[in-house]
Amino acid sequence: MKARKFLIAGNWKMNKTAAEGVALVREIVAAVGPQTEVDVVVCPPFTALESVSKTLEGTAIKLGAQNMHPQPSGAFTGEVSAEMLRGLFTSWVILGHSERRQYFGETDAFINQKVQAALKSLLKPILCIGETLAERDGSKTLDVVKTQLEGGLAGIEADAVINVVLAYEPVWAIGTGRNATPAQAQEVHAFIRNWLTARYGKPVAQKVRVLYGGSMKPANAAELLKQEDIDGGLIGGASLEANSFIDLIKAARAQA
Ligand code: PEP
Repeated sequence: MKARKFLIAGNWKMNKTAAEGVALVREIVAAVGPQTEVDVVVCPPFTALESVSKTLEGTAIKLGAQNMHPQPSGAFTGEVSAEMLRGLFTSWVILGHSERRQYFGETDAFINQKVQAALKSLLKPILCIGETLAERDGSKTLDVVKTQLEGGLAGIEADAVINVVLAYEPVWAIGTGRNATPAQAQEVHAFIRNWLTARYGKPVAQKVRVLYGGSMKPANAAELLKQEDIDGGLIGGASLEANSFIDLIKAARAQA
């Protein structure tokens, strides 16, 4: 029995038209049914949010976005706000994904503004952190994770942080087929838990879920999810195909 409820979240990235997204969630809903032992979230691209939202109505699966802008409105061409996402019944938002950091130059300070804005609008952030291969090879993993935690959660107090989910995603494991070993992942997850304990105290730190992300798939999920401080998964590639995503939900249920 795990201390925290597992969360399995699918990050579709720039994949799936609205019609393809609806077909995918229909299959997931049909297979998963009304279970609530594991929290399940799907994060389609913006263009599929509305259709997927309608398909998820009345189901136990929640909707997430992959990004948002921290401002409520204004001259930010191409961006969307937390309120706009809320209007489509989105309840989660991925923030600070390594692809946003790498390709769009997002900094910890900017990501922190988004975390604050999301929480203010009652959207639950999935805040992504993790080191590159060069940083791991240079033994900088824990320093990098600490800096990202300090920056991303700046100004977020204990009553708010319990609505944040963290996702530890080693960049070298994302989309590469090369997952962190359960021991490598647990080492960083335990470090994150200790950091949360030092910052917020043990009762709060024990409530915050920390997901693992990086080539998680049905074949490696059970061992990863068995680790004490791994509370679910943020899934890229394996969330694009109904059977693999369903199997990941089942793997979490088997240990719930
Ligand atoms: C991700 O991008 O969040 C991710 C974990 O991708 P993948 O599962 O494909 O490695």
